Amino acid sequence: MAKSASVEKQIEKLREELRRHEYLYYVQDEPEISDVKFDRMMAELQKLEAEHPELVTPDSPTQRVGGAPRKGFETRRHSPAMMSLDNTYSMEEIEEFDRRVRELGGRDRVDYVTEHKFDGLSISLLYEGGVLARGVTRGDGTTGEDVTANVRTIRSIPLRVDQDALKKLRLPHDFEVRGEIIMPLRAFEALNEKQEEEGGKRYANPRNVAAGSVRVLDPEITRSRHLDFYAYYLLAGGREPERRHSEALEALQKMHFKVSPDWHVCPSLDAVKKFIDAWESKREKLPYEIDGIVIKLNEIALQQELGFTAKAPRWAVAYKYPARQETTVVNDVIFQVGRTGTLTPVAVLEPVEVGGVTVSRSTLHNMDEIERLGLRIGDTVIVERAGEVIPHVIKVTKEGKQRREIVVPERCPECHSRIHKDPEEVAYRCVNASCPAKRKESLLHFAGRHAMNIDGLGEKIVDQLVDKGLVKDFADLYELKLDDVAALERMAEKSAQNLLDEIKASKSNSLARLIYALGIRFVGERTGQLLADHFSSLPKLAEASVEQLEEVTEVGPKVAQSIADFFSESANQKLIKRLKDEGLKMTEKREALESTRLAGKTFVFTGALARRSRDEAGAEAARHGAKISGSVSKLTDYVVVGADPGSKYDKARALGVTILNEDEFDQLLAGKLPAEAAASDPPATKSKQKNPAKKSAKDSKSSARSSRKKTSQPPLFQ
Ligand code: AMP
Ligand code: ZN
Repeated sequence: MAKSASVEKQIEKLREELRRHEYLYYVQDEPEISDVKFDRMMAELQKLEAEHPELVTPDSPTQRVGGAPRKGFETRRHSPAMMSLDNTYSMEEIEEFDRRVRELGGRDRVDYVTEHKFDGLSISLLYEGGVLARGVTRGDGTTGEDVTANVRTIRSIPLRVDQDALKKLRLPHDFEVRGEIIMPLRAFEALNEKQEEEGGKRYANPRNVAAGSVRVLDPEITRSRHLDFYAYYLLAGGREPERRHSEALEALQKMHFKVSPDWHVCPSLDAVKKFIDAWESKREKLPYEIDGIVIKLNEIALQQELGFTAKAPRWAVAYKYPARQETTVVNDVIFQVGRTGTLTPVAVLEPVEVGGVTVSRSTLHNMDEIERLGLRIGDTVIVERAGEVIPHVIKVTKEGKQRREIVVPERCPECHSRIHKDPEEVAYRCVNASCPAKRKESLLHFAGRHAMNIDGLGEKIVDQLVDKGLVKDFADLYELKLDDVAALERMAEKSAQNLLDEIKASKSNSLARLIYALGIRFVGERTGQLLADHFSSLPKLAEASVEQLEEVTEVGPKVAQSIADFFSESANQKLIKRLKDEGLKMTEKREALESTRLAGKTFVFTGALARRSRDEAGAEAARHGAKISGSVSKLTDYVVVGADPGSKYDKARALGVTILNEDEFDQLLAGKLPAEAAASDPPATKSKQKNPAKKSAKDSKSSARSSRKKTSQPPLFQ
């Protein structure tokens, strides 16, 4: 008993701490502890709650994760209705609004509160007993959709509000907060980058993504979108509980809701105008999109006197900034090489002023986007600017008289190397490791801790080395002179010597590190190691065909193609030669073999083995001289099959490759089953293929069929 009481206390303490850090991180943007520490605390709470499920409450910070997707949303009535706002587009309309307000209210002078008009999705959050009970979309204003599970995943929305805070503010424990769910521009850009990397479509704007991400049935999607919430109304018993709207905003802040700090009490229409003017350009710097300014009468009693029209309050109005869109002509399309070698098409525009800024360039993202737009050079287009994001073309409005097709150049505009395209990907890229466009990035990667591990070769030094023309590629690093390095900023002779020593020492790094350091697309640390193990030599790797590359464990067609592309580039071939001349270690002896029993045999593993992982099994076979491959082909000798095998198993059967279970594999390793004998008389399948190279296509087909027949009961010998 006593124990459970102390656990309860411990849990409550952890929750309080976590709530405080969530607030500091997601609302204040001023974290006090590292992410790791936060995660550790969360894990601790999760563990305690798992041990004591009876103590889990819905307001626990662990309860943001959404649970299972639902079938549909329930609708809920709003009380009072969630009204829209009347829009205005000019200062005259604002003056007109002000006149009406003062007339109806019978005042000469009133205070207004000006706020950002967040461009997102408005939401109503209902709290019961201080705990978030429901989140409902605006819907048609009268009824909306219950999206509580989704809303809970948004970290800046408090799951509970501190009792003391409510007490101090003299607020009831049941209240409602209304505000906007938005997607920060950074999250939006990151999402689009990810989309592009995965070959998906770019999203048009953050508002649509925010709205879409809240109205999905799977809360996990909402969570993954990194949405944010800004509060702008507080209601208790259906009305604002404070005397002034500004006080409500302050109260919301004290309740630990996120409130934009940029609201302002304006004692005059002039102040309102100044606020509007100031934010027209300042909004570019905001981390989220706003499409205007909302002007609200500050005094709540007066608000109530004025009431509502059928659609909107009489006491508030929105001023909309002019759209930051213009039409202009695309005079040309050029291609820029990015930090990673990706080619990005850029429209050269007839200069045009868009929202106060002259625009003459606009990104077109990639060739798919050009196709989607149906764009050709000479067309008239609409360009839009949003935040500090580069302007982009929205659509073609008129086709040019003499339109010109946009073609991807065959050679890199920076270094003249050939441009490559992976058939599966949208992007075209320059794979020259020394291309000036990605020189700095490549060098930093090369020097990185997991690559050549050259301590002291950080961003500041790389910048100077490249800018001064001292280093153009990896090989140049090894030719640096002490005087050159010592002449760099913030470089004493001693540290210059240290750096040169570090560079020199890196020459004897393992082959795996060197392969990884080259920065071949899709070749991470692990693949670097697998390639080094397989080829034991950089020149051999460089000469390997796509087919040979695919023989390497875990190397699929995409990776193999990327490696082959890299080494087919003459600039890279020259680079490798120079690195060799500089004395870098290009070969590596394989570990001494236990036997050569399996020499020349290629193995593929599929499914879960009972006694070891597939990696371990591969290593064991390799110690007897076997080659390990990630995919089944005619060159495969054995496919070792565990539980729940994948398509490799089907392919092996189709090709008539010898199939072994784990016991048989063990016997083979132990020499109890001679490799030759096993190959010619596999105990499990009898599908034999003594010399596949000599077989005619017809033969191998028939053997595939017969093997399928014989093994129609999967020989899963687990
Ligand atoms: P509209 O969608 O053009 O009818 O404008 C009304 C909408 O503006 C409201 O439903 C809110 O979602 C949104 N809005 C954005 N920022 C604010 C704000 N600071 N105060 C009130 N409404 C806002
Ligand atoms: Zn290039």
